[in-house]
Amino acid sequence: MISFKNEPFTNFGKEENRQAFQAALNKVRAELGKEYDIIIGGEHIKTQQKVKSINPSNLDEVIGIVNEADIDLTEKAMQVAAKTFETWKKVAPAARARVLFKAAAIMRRRKHEFSAWMVLEAGKSWPEADADTAEAIDFMEFYGREMLRLAEPQPLTPIPGEDNELTYIPLGVGAIIPPWNFPLAITVGMTTSAIVAGNTVVLKPATPTNVIAYKFMEILREAGLPDGVVNYVPGPGPEVGEYMVTHPLTRFISFTGSRAVGLRINELAAKTVPGQKWIKRVVAEMGGKDSIVVDSDSDLDLAAEAIVKSAFGFSGQKCSACSRVIAHQDIYDELLSSVVEKTKQLKVGEAKDLGIDMGPVVDDKAYNKILEYMEIGKKEGRLMVGGGKAEGNGYFLQPTVFADIDPEARLAQEEIFGPVVAFIKARDFDHALEIANNTEYGLTGAVIAREREKLEKAREVFHVGNLYFNRKCTGALVGAQPFGGYNMSGTCSKAGGRDYLLLFLQQKLVSEAL
Ligand code: GLU
Repeated sequence: MISFKNEPFTNFGKEENRQAFQAALNKVRAELGKEYDIIIGGEHIKTQQKVKSINPSNLDEVIGIVNEADIDLTEKAMQVAAKTFETWKKVAPAARARVLFKAAAIMRRRKHEFSAWMVLEAGKSWPEADADTAEAIDFMEFYGREMLRLAEPQPLTPIPGEDNELTYIPLGVGAIIPPWNFPLAITVGMTTSAIVAGNTVVLKPATPTNVIAYKFMEILREAGLPDGVVNYVPGPGPEVGEYMVTHPLTRFISFTGSRAVGLRINELAAKTVPGQKWIKRVVAEMGGKDSIVVDSDSDLDLAAEAIVKSAFGFSGQKCSACSRVIAHQDIYDELLSSVVEKTKQLKVGEAKDLGIDMGPVVDDKAYNKILEYMEIGKKEGRLMVGGGKAEGNGYFLQPTVFADIDPEARLAQEEIFGPVVAFIKARDFDHALEIANNTEYGLTGAVIAREREKLEKAREVFHVGNLYFNRKCTGALVGAQPFGGYNMSGTCSKAGGRDYLLLFLQQKLVSEAL
């Protein structure tokens, strides 16, 4: 087996790659508007309740029409997942891993097609969509290998006269509730980590990106995953999601999304219901309020570049996105004007066009919430650029920079999940780190500095799960930068890291007297 290597990103500077991607977009365009079924135990099911998935760049374009499950169908999916667990858990770990490797190979062959779906359904730019697909492939390659590693006999202290064996066994049925912002990568990562470990799952995709999740189901089928291991159950979170979370057969919940929903899931999962035989495990990856700290003696061009990329990539809709710049007072004004200049040059437009820097935000809910925060920012600080809607028949917003935000202001504390960044002035480097740690989150952060001593100080005290020096704070790579954070950012899981599969496993010790 070749050791794990990250899937390379596509170079869109090459004409042949641009053509191949455009061809994929055309192919996907020809498939728009189809109807997608619920899939339970391999059975395709239609319902009365249907939800339209639309292109956030062009609200007149219907991506697909998705059948939504109700409580009865969710119950059916839970039962099927529980029954399938009895057979799937007995499939050898290596055979389970092979399904992931096969699915990764299929996805690699149809890479641009998957990215194209994300351009149209999620509003991702070409490079952002390409990175999302690459990460999805990485997750399958990585977790497959991880399962092979964990299937090896685990080291124990030898005792004469005894045969001791420690193995990892799966947990049971999992509720998988992924987000829409990495609609392929995170959906694939959360689902395949659980199933390669031997669990079966009910997958409730994020409503704005139901169709991409369905496309992933097609690949799993083609890769030979037995029916019932992954059950595709789109539906409204408060109804379908909560039913899954509170179900007595649910053994674990894997969730990525907002702090509010994550906490609600944690609370619901903590309550034992009749017929439940275990304590439910909750793996939750929630929000962030991520800072880039910029020191006085630092490369300000590099800083401005890192800030603009981290703040406005995919319109700031990443929990890793930079939403606070904490700048040393000596370089505050210079850095601010450089970031403002770069921001003014960003091109906002339809995600289908290669030349754009920023596409739309995902839906009307996000759009209205971000606009509200822009109004709050106007009261709390100095608007430097942006601050409102951008043109187009979609959810377009202007990339926005506010200056002179108080470290305790709402703009400095609350997750906006949009293209809005707040500048905060620090007296000195220590003060900057103090501000950086003043939120209830702890996901990502970056420090732009030259002095070794300061980097070492930040290494020690900057309390985030993913800390970056002299680079952007987004774009963690599977295997290289395991991703996840502290405090209200979640349960400290590290997606794409060596500890991740353990979250979906338990250990069994057998000791035989010889
Ligand atoms: N892993 C992504 C990154 O490093 C962020 C994931 C998310 O936003 O949920 O940028």
